[in-house]
Amino acid sequence: MAKKTSITVAHGDGIGPEIMKATLHVIEEAGANFDIETIEIGESVYKRGFTSGIEAASWDSLRRTKVFLKAPITTPQGGGFKSLNVTVRKTLGLYANVRPCVSYHPFIATKHPIMDVVIVRENEEDLYAGIEHRQTDQVVQCLKLITRPGCEKIVRYAFEYARRNNRTKVTCFTKDNIMKLTDGLFHRVFDEIGGDYPDIEKEHWIVDIGAAKLADTPEAFDVIVMPNLYGDILSDVAAQIAGSVGLAGSANIGEHVSMFEAIHGSAPRRAGQNVANPSGLLLGAVMMLVHIGQIEAAERVHNAFLRTLEDGIHTYDVYTEGVSKQKVGTREFGGAIIARLGQIPQQLKPVHYRAAEAGIGAGWTPRPPADKKLVGVDVFLDWRKGTPDQLAAALRQVPGDGLTLSMITNRGVKVWPDGVPETFCTDHWRCRYMVKDGEGANHGQVVALLARVEEAGLDFIKIENLFTFDGEPGFSLGQGQ
Ligand code: NAD
Repeated sequence: MAKKTSITVAHGDGIGPEIMKATLHVIEEAGANFDIETIEIGESVYKRGFTSGIEAASWDSLRRTKVFLKAPITTPQGGGFKSLNVTVRKTLGLYANVRPCVSYHPFIATKHPIMDVVIVRENEEDLYAGIEHRQTDQVVQCLKLITRPGCEKIVRYAFEYARRNNRTKVTCFTKDNIMKLTDGLFHRVFDEIGGDYPDIEKEHWIVDIGAAKLADTPEAFDVIVMPNLYGDILSDVAAQIAGSVGLAGSANIGEHVSMFEAIHGSAPRRAGQNVANPSGLLLGAVMMLVHIGQIEAAERVHNAFLRTLEDGIHTYDVYTEGVSKQKVGTREFGGAIIARLGQIPQQLKPVHYRAAEAGIGAGWTPRPPADKKLVGVDVFLDWRKGTPDQLAAALRQVPGDGLTLSMITNRGVKVWPDGVPETFCTDHWRCRYMVKDGEGANHGQVVALLARVEEAGLDFIKIENLFTFDGEPGFSLGQGQ
């Protein structure tokens, strides 16, 4: 029998308790061996005044067991409540979101009979840092943060996942033709780390055409690794075109703790009726069993699940007249899987897990800091008194003291010098000051410049210092520059 593992379980809201009960029943009958610590999360906790939907004692359980099987929860409407999922992912550093998207043709309707794609999504960074500001009457911003450690961890995880699961190709999606620094870093790290995996085919697609290709011919892909936002969107697309978002499970992997769940929500309208499909959570639990090394139980559950689908025993959400044989409820679907434990599918491909797939982790390599040199500053202004040339004239009254105004952009487009009248301008301006080539600036010069900008009656919103790193510019040019 497998070594006993402690896990933390949350039964969640809406259909959560029903699908969790069915899931636990199936995996226990399959021989999974664990002690359960139950925690309460979600609606009732929010209503007791915990704005993140989880109490302090629950964190202790998660830190102790390091394995979390979580049913969906209901996030109350209205301000003041924080997303529990985002809180758990970020607090515990769950950097990798892994979603296998598999079609079950001809038993579950899909336009893509041959589809077996695993989306590996970066889970903590990108536009999800949640750093947003309103800066002027007309403009708001959201900061997109991409880090080298974050890229290294997710990309290495994707390659390790591929190697240990006998997958042959890893594809990377980014938009680095536009976001040359942020998405460019993700792509560069993909190329660097890919070099350590000569046995695996590698390719990169710009996300727009990559997404179109994924939706059209998913059979061309195997493992796809992506930054957070693209991964969030495309993992739902991939799950849905495979058959249904209701069938997919996901793993959220961290260096210390990992969380397993269905990808759907708490479906409150279906709650308490014994109709919900437990497959998503069950497949999340299978990923958990693989992660903790209970390979045999994982395989028994997964194959019995495939056999049940093949036998036409379906819940209402995937039931199709003429294909399905029996419409069943949550409990009965679980019971049908238990009755098939030990059987393997006849038409669908049986799964075979190996010990090597357990506990995949990833790391990153600290490197010595680069030689960082301040060479200029972008000063952002809230201004609506005229044309770009008039703003340039006003700024030229302000002595630069070693820093020279080199460019003004509006929404990133160069409007001075040599702007064109057709460019639409808002009240949000970026004014770039640079030192002479080869020279360096200091923070004192920047602070003094800002003081003079303020004295001239100009309203600055923020600055971004411009650095070179080992001589390479750490900033992008203006469009049209
Ligand atoms: P949902 O996924 O709960 O439901 C979308 C649709 O799919 C509904 O028609 C629902 O009936 C159906 N559905 C979903 N899961 C099903 C299942 N297992 N079996 C059968 N039918 C199923 O999404 P929603 O309606 O947008 O959100 C409902 C609540 O869930 C919200 O409070 C939302 O915040 C929360 N939510 C939680 C999570 C999570 O905890 N991981 C994820 C998404 C949404």
